[in-house]
Amino acid sequence: MWHEATVLRIDRQSPNTRLFTLMVLDDFMFQFKPGQFITLDLPIHEKRRLRLRSYSIANIPNKENILQLSITKLEGGKGSSYLFDEVKEGHILSFKGPGGVFTLPKVLPEKLVFICTGTGIAPFRSMLLSLREKAIRDIAIHLIFGTRYEDGILFREEMKSFQNDFDYFRYSVALSREEYISKSTNPDVHKGYVHSIYQKEYADIHKNIKFLLCGWSGMVDEAVANLKKMGYEERDVYYELYG
Ligand SMILES: Cc1cc2nc3c(=O)[nH]c(=O)nc-3n(C[C@H](O)[C@H](O)[C@H](O)COP(=O)(O)OP(=O)(O)OC[C@H]3O[C@@H](n4cnc5c(N)ncnc54)[C@H](O)[C@@H]3O)c2cc1C
Repeated sequence: MWHEATVLRIDRQSPNTRLFTLMVLDDFMFQFKPGQFITLDLPIHEKRRLRLRSYSIANIPNKENILQLSITKLEGGKGSSYLFDEVKEGHILSFKGPGGVFTLPKVLPEKLVFICTGTGIAPFRSMLLSLREKAIRDIAIHLIFGTRYEDGILFREEMKSFQNDFDYFRYSVALSREEYISKSTNPDVHKGYVHSIYQKEYADIHKNIKFLLCGWSGMVDEAVANLKKMGYEERDVYYELYG
């Protein structure tokens, strides 16, 4: 089903990432499951199939029909350049959705490990907000976020604040291109890629654990292969590929 939404705000999250806050112009509440995405029809091509770009919803369903999308501008990327350069507050966007099956497991395990790079954090923010809203505290969650530089860390303060909402919430950051980060602002920062963090932490097979991975294929494919090699079952590894 197609919908329309007005752009309410565009906020800078990092040098090349913006948080787009939209309001869906439906008379009814726009429902979706945390982890799902919408697909925008952007006027960047004559053929509709070449105009479609999907974005994970970064927030949770709400009466105001607000949707938040965290979007990175790709050099030369048609859709993201249009969103960054042409779309302003008040702009109306056309979209379909929600879509996708990348959602929280029906039966929650003892431990959830979220692994993401860049805007791949968006579905996990939605899932965390949803668990918090339902006051589910007694689940162990480890969020492993990777980016190149410190200024690419998305939702940083909010992610740290989840430590107050869950009995055990661990937030690890992997910086692939920067040596130093101020220790006072984030205690769990690693130099390198996300892989070394879960490979070390979960080398001994945990029972009752699910790994959820989200981002571009470079990271996700490698992580899926690594987890398999480490001995985890396919059914314990869920993923969403951005491309
Ligand atoms: C289910 C789903 C959810 C998504 N959610 C988000 C989201 O929440 N936020 C977001 O920013 N994007 C998200 N994406 C990606 C988004 O749909 C677009 O692909 C992205 O914005 C690039 O579109 P573009 O038109 O700017 O680039 P295009 O003109 O389509 O060109 C992009 C090209 O760059 C390639 N590419 C290679 N490496 C990378 C890389 N590291 N990063 C980007 N592109 C690379 C792509 O494969 C593609 O060929 C999602 C994709 C899917 C399928």
